[in-house]
Amino acid sequence: MPDLTGYLCEQCLDAPAVAFVPAPGGGEMGVCTACGGLAPASPCVQHPLAQAHSPVFSRQGTRVAVTCGRCGVCWATTAARWLAELERRRTVAGTSAPEEA
Ligand SMILES: [Zn+2]
Ligand SMILES: [Zn+2]
Repeated sequence: MPDLTGYLCEQCLDAPAVAFVPAPGGGEMGVCTACGGLAPASPCVQHPLAQAHSPVFSRQGTRVAVTCGRCGVCWATTAARWLAELERRRTVAGTSAPEEA
């Protein structure tokens, strides 16, 4: 399955891309379910990284398999994106904590 995490549909630029199709000018492009005429592969059009959990790093350490907290499907992202998400969660947790004593 192609990794389209974070990509927008190149046809409508309005929805997350979920599949690659041959592009008119050659090569391929990512399209959303509507533009590609595809049925969603899972309950999530795109699993939210913010709700992912149970990370399992690949042997090379470049990919991370995570479980979607919304639909329960196991999907993969890059280690860089996952580490950035962890950093984001840490930042959010730190700044949203009540400051007033
Ligand atoms: Zn589209
Ligand atoms: Zn999901």
